[in-house]
Amino acid sequence: MSESIPASSVLAGATRRLRKGLQHPLVTHAARLGTPTRLRILAYHGIEELANFESAVVRILDDYMPVNGDDIVAALTDRRPLPKWSVWFTFDDGLKSTLDAGETLAKHGIQATAFINPSTYERPSFLWFQILDMAESQGVIAPTERAKFSRKRLKECPDAERRAAIHELDGRLDPASKTLTASGSLSDLRDWVQLGHEVGNHTWDHPCLDNCDGEEQRRQVERAHEWLVSNHFDPRFFAYPNGNWSSDSEGAARRLGYSASVLFDHHLERLHGNPHMLSRLRISDSASRSRSASILSGAHSGLYHAARRLHSL
Ligand SMILES: [Zn+2]
Repeated sequence: MSESIPASSVLAGATRRLRKGLQHPLVTHAARLGTPTRLRILAYHGIEELANFESAVVRILDDYMPVNGDDIVAALTDRRPLPKWSVWFTFDDGLKSTLDAGETLAKHGIQATAFINPSTYERPSFLWFQILDMAESQGVIAPTERAKFSRKRLKECPDAERRAAIHELDGRLDPASKTLTASGSLSDLRDWVQLGHEVGNHTWDHPCLDNCDGEEQRRQVERAHEWLVSNHFDPRFFAYPNGNWSSDSEGAARRLGYSASVLFDHHLERLHGNPHMLSRLRISDSASRSRSASILSGAHSGLYHAARRLHSL
């Protein structure tokens, strides 16, 4: 008697084998060689392990040339070409572990950009998904509430609903777990800039902009901007939370004179299109050597998008 294998598991198996193939050094090498003029904008969040991160950075610099915010502005406004195989290091959410990596980055000649949410700097606090993480790890979400508090739903529901759900979870957390935030301090941020790095705008408190009305979108970008300017960080780049582009937030960034805004879409960037829709590659310091090389080369991005298209069929 034969049993049929579900199409989804065949697809998952094929994707796994393809991913392994695309991480082969020859494939990675060929993908990198074929894309010398593409900019790699790396989108990290925090750094889990600084020594691992430093090793990964050293490997990246064997094959790619770091560029900074000035280089990006010159490329966008003056059409000044970037070096071949350029890489721009960016970090989202203003996590302390990012700011703690500032010296390591500077030691290797990298000037990075950290996109921060000033709400967590003005008053020590957590971003909404950090509260959700804590609620999940502290087991304060009952099995019957899983759908109500699912990350997917909270990313898609109206902003007020998400805020109410997170407020409810916040009230259930162990108070002792809320004494330290994941963000750095203003002084950490100043040290980061002192090392040659840059601070960008990631909205006031990281909503899903596409679920906010136009006025709230503008307020989120402008309030973060005002805080950054009043603390002398002079932002010139904006990162859409979760990479969710919206015309109102793009308009707000443009009106404030920002040079560019970045997505979270896992593509290499050509720098020929809308400067307020620059593609970034998703990466973390825990990625294996072969995965990291595949991501930087562009091979991983190709597979990622092909697999998403297949799964949506
Ligand atoms: Zn973010």
